[in-house]
This record gives sequence, C-alpha cells and structure tokens, in this order.
Amino acid sequence: MGTVVLSIDAELAWGFHDRPDPPRERIAAARPGWSRLLSILEEFSIPATWAIVGHLFLEECDGTHAEHPGSPDWFARDPGGSAGEHDDWFGPDLVRAVRDADVDHEIACHGFSHVEFGNRETSRETAVAEVEASIEAAASMGVELRSFVFPRNRVGHRDVLAAYGFRSYRGVRPDQWFDAVPMRRTGKLLDAAVVRSAPPLVSPTVDEYGLVNLPASLDLFGFEGIARSLLEPTVGDPVVRQAKAGIDRALESEGVCHLWLHPNNLLAERDSDRLRTVLSHLAARRERSSLAVETMRTVSERVDLPDAYRAVQ
Ligand SMILES: [Zn+2]
Ligand SMILES: [Zn+2]
Repeated sequence: MGTVVLSIDAELAWGFHDRPDPPRERIAAARPGWSRLLSILEEFSIPATWAIVGHLFLEECDGTHAEHPGSPDWFARDPGGSAGEHDDWFGPDLVRAVRDADVDHEIACHGFSHVEFGNRETSRETAVAEVEASIEAAASMGVELRSFVFPRNRVGHRDVLAAYGFRSYRGVRPDQWFDAVPMRRTGKLLDAAVVRSAPPLVSPTVDEYGLVNLPASLDLFGFEGIARSLLEPTVGDPVVRQAKAGIDRALESEGVCHLWLHPNNLLAERDSDRLRTVLSHLAARRERSSLAVETMRTVSERVDLPDAYRAVQ
C-alpha cells in the first residue's frame, strides 16, 4: 500500500515580487485561499506539508534586510512596517493557524523571500542567507524546519539544506510522454482529453547530500486557462480525474502520489470544488484501506539513510 502526500507552496505577495507585473488577482486570493484550504483539510482530516516563505513568520521588518546579499534591490517591493499594516507581506496569523490546527500539519520552508535556488545567478551565500533567516523566523514561533520546497521548483544549493539540518525536499516531477514532444502544450491537452494517463507515482530517494528527494507527481492547478475551460464541459475536470487516478494507483503499489498546489490557486468556487472532490476521494479511500496520507517529514523519516549520513542527521 502506498502513500499520498500533499504539499503547499505558501507565499502571499512573495511569490511574485520579482515579476514586472505581479498578478493582483492571485495575490488577493492568497489570504482567503489559505484559510479556505486549511478548513477543507480540516474537514477531511488531511495533514499537509505547508512550505511557507520565511518572511511571512515575521511580525515586522525594516523593509531593507541589509544582512541579505540581495539587499536592497531584491527587497524593493517589501513595504517594511508591521503585520497589521501589510498583510500581503506578513502572515504570522496564517502561520499560527496552520501550527495550531487540529490536523497535524508540517510547516516546511519555501525560502525566506522566494529566491530561486536553481537560478544560476543565485550564489551559495544568498542560499545560506535565505535558509538562516527562515530557520530563525520559524524558531521564533517554535517551528523546526525539516523539509524544503524550492521556489518555482528550481532545485539548487542542496548542500546548504543538508548543512542546515534539512531532511527532505520536493524534487521535480518525473517526465511524462508529453514532455518529450515538440508541442508540449498540445501534448498535455491531448493527454488530459484522450490518453488520460495517471500521474507518476514517485519513490523517495537519498541524494548525494543525504537528503531525501520526494518528487512531485501532480500540480493540482497546472492545467488552467483555456485548456481547462475547453475540456471541463465535455470530459469533466481533467485534474480531478488525474488526481483520483494517482490516488487509486497509490492504493495498489508502494509508491507515493505527491500532489501540490498554492493557496492562491483557489480563485473561484470551482477551484475549491476541485480540491474538495479530490480530498473527499482521498479520505474515502483511506477510510476503506490502509492507504497512508502523510507529510514530507513523516515519509522522509521512514527512509533509511546510508551509514555515511546517519551520524550527521
Ligand atoms: Zn521585510
Ligand atoms: Zn513559490
């Protein structure tokens, strides 16, 4: 019997602050989406891994973060001030809501200010600053960070994570057939409409730094826009079908079905409906089987590390 993991990239305005024209609609949806997501998880007793941008733990800041190598340019949009004044940039209330929920969620790291670790321009020094500031901010709330989700899934500086006591990260989804074809977007649409392949199950593996890599299987909101609007009325919500297929595959094997999303994906009622449909399916399957629903942390703690890494963990 396999496992289902749900991870969440939680970032409010930080997810877009380096973009020339940040999408207002998604930023506005982030706070209500966060609360709605938390209550849907509560409704179905589903524990998730909330990878939260470190800046959101803060009650206040000076807006410049002079000790960070990217300062001051990287923080040009950071308004500074306090959580009460700028709630797109601070979220201690939201972090506490996750920490104090009845369901046993994991709080994980998504960088301090959403720096892309895998970007060639990101120095090791910057990665260290991101990790140190996140650990410190989380510790002020009594939270210990053990899992990491790379901003925009740009994997990099894994040695830094290992050095700072992280145990696991979400790696990139294994390639599917449509990744290899020249017209990838068309291939993805064709897959959702006709081929209907299930998302890949993944297995946690130990990398060369002794970290557990738990790759993604399916982005619950990676199929949006025109493609979704075209397919939904005819073949139903393709993502619901894919997610259900992934969950059902996990029932029959030892693999992990690793689903993920952003709170700011819950823009409209139909988005919450999609999530509720998937999680209700998951809860029903778990009820009638020994299918496990776990956090990245719990899964990674079960993975045996080679002897060379055991001493340092
Ligand atoms: Zn700040
Ligand atoms: Zn992100």
